[in-house]
Amino acid sequence: MSEPRIQYLSNEVAFLKQQLNEAHEKYKIALNVLMDCFVIFSAIRDAEERIIDFRFESINQAASEFLGVPIEEASNFSLLELYPGYVESGLFDRYCEVVLTNRPAVLETSTYNRDGELSYIKVSVAKLTDGVVVSWDDITMERKLEEELDKNLSKLAIVLSSMSDGFAIFDQNWRFLYINPKIEELLNKSKLDLLGRNLFRVFPEFINSTIFDFIQVLSQARLSNSTECLDPINNTYYDITAYPYEDGYAVIVRDITAKKELQLAAKRSEELFFKSFHLSPAMMCLISVEKRTVLDVNDAWCFFTGYTKDEVIGQCTDVLTVFSNHYPIDSDVLDSGSSGSRSNFKVKCLTKQGHIRELIHSSEIIEVTGEMCFLYVALDVTENEKLTREIARLDKLNLIGQMAAGIGHEIRNPLTTVRGFLQFMMSKEYFANHSHHFELMISELDRANHIITEFLSLAGYKHYDRQSHNINLLVENIFPLLQSEALKENKNISFLLEDIPKVDINEMEFRQLILNLVKNGFEAIDSGGCVKIQTYSTVHSVVLRIEDTGHGIPSDVLGKLGTPFFTTKSHGTGLGLAVCYSIVERHNGRIDVASNEHGTSFTIHFPLP
Ligand code: ADP
Ligand code: MG
Repeated sequence: MSEPRIQYLSNEVAFLKQQLNEAHEKYKIALNVLMDCFVIFSAIRDAEERIIDFRFESINQAASEFLGVPIEEASNFSLLELYPGYVESGLFDRYCEVVLTNRPAVLETSTYNRDGELSYIKVSVAKLTDGVVVSWDDITMERKLEEELDKNLSKLAIVLSSMSDGFAIFDQNWRFLYINPKIEELLNKSKLDLLGRNLFRVFPEFINSTIFDFIQVLSQARLSNSTECLDPINNTYYDITAYPYEDGYAVIVRDITAKKELQLAAKRSEELFFKSFHLSPAMMCLISVEKRTVLDVNDAWCFFTGYTKDEVIGQCTDVLTVFSNHYPIDSDVLDSGSSGSRSNFKVKCLTKQGHIRELIHSSEIIEVTGEMCFLYVALDVTENEKLTREIARLDKLNLIGQMAAGIGHEIRNPLTTVRGFLQFMMSKEYFANHSHHFELMISELDRANHIITEFLSLAGYKHYDRQSHNINLLVENIFPLLQSEALKENKNISFLLEDIPKVDINEMEFRQLILNLVKNGFEAIDSGGCVKIQTYSTVHSVVLRIEDTGHGIPSDVLGKLGTPFFTTKSHGTGLGLAVCYSIVERHNGRIDVASNEHGTSFTIHFPLP
């Protein structure tokens, strides 16, 4: 070979060497920046050419760290020397197999790293000359995550299957993909009947139900949505919530029948309450605890108070006079224990017309349409109270009447005898000087006799017959007598008599009645005052009214009127009104008294026959 040619070739070799070195360097750098572990092994064979081990030829940084083999000294180590476990784990055999078959393999396995920790690796093995190139990735983290996920999924499965709500997953075409046991129970179908099948195929009856509309809306809007529906077959109410996701829908179904029934029961009881509220003959009103406004009142309340519903509903109790002073919307009631419940207490109420009525009241805090309210129930007992007082008075009259009947005669007889003797003795000459004493004694006896006569009439002792009379005529007859009385004291008396039907009257007793009442009238007025007698008729009665412009009757005296011997006058007997009441009672009539500081009126009703 010529000199220049040799020169050329050696240059060429030197150049190629340099290129090779450079390539080798690049390859080493590339290997070391690889994140995956990378090792080249060459086979170590025995005399019979069987592979007995692998020697490290080349190793990158990641593998060096994983295995604990220094990069520079790698070729001093063999695989089984460092990791004899590779035989047992089968990896060694797999490497040999790749060398023999020249078929690359990918496998996942576990191995211990240099620190003795068990790691999961994903290994790719390929043949390289008489050895293998192995690269692997540490997938311990992924494995752990997967295991965690598996665990969580199985927990989720347990939760779903033990859930008291139904849970189902559908695909886009509403085919069942998953159902929990509760769904099987609610739909009364097994997994086998449902999975993979379309909802409306299995339940054609749903097509005409609200579920169908709900699904239509859901499929279009693709937003989670809920609905309540009734399964007419099982008479069960469901609350259905559906959540669309990429490939279908997750649906939660809750049986709300019990809740619905409670709601319906509450609604029914509320209806019942309102019916009884409005139909009750007792006065009822509902007042908001928070705002103190009137929420509702019933017809009876309006009837007794004189207000219309429009006038009070929505108004604050502070501005309504009906609730002021008398009505128990006061802090005392409101704070009477947290329950606000009080029963049967007596209060007074001012009606729209300004009358004061007596009420028996009960209150309770209740919830109506979600709002806390005071429920006030009241009965108007004004008339009852009057009646009770009347009965007590009549009882007293009765007792006294019986006593009067018993002892009246016994007293009058000796009085008559004494009077007779006094008259007899007065006529004697012997007593001529004492005649004025005798006159005084006789007049005192007459007065006593008069009182006893009046007292006896309490008992109805004299049973006069009653006849049909027009009381106008009786008034006209007695009027001159009354007028002369009036003139004596410079007082006035007038009458106003309307056309009235006849009633059954005892003339004597009627006269006594007028006399007693007019006398009281005269005694109540000053000179110049006036007493007025009036008659008129109503549907059921003929009315006699005696009215004066006197000083009136104080309220503490009003309650005692008609009690025998009750008088406020120094020379009164206290029998006048008692007699009047007993006369009127015998005629089955009624006396009403009205009085204020400008005067008094006695109104007597005689029932029509
Ligand atoms: P007397 O007239 O003897 O006192 P009565 O039974 O007639 O007894 O009346 C009882 C009481 O009722 C009277 O004392 C008086 O206080 C009161 N009274 C009755 N009528 C009137 C009247 N018209 N005006 C004011 N007070 C009256
Ligand atoms: Mg009198």
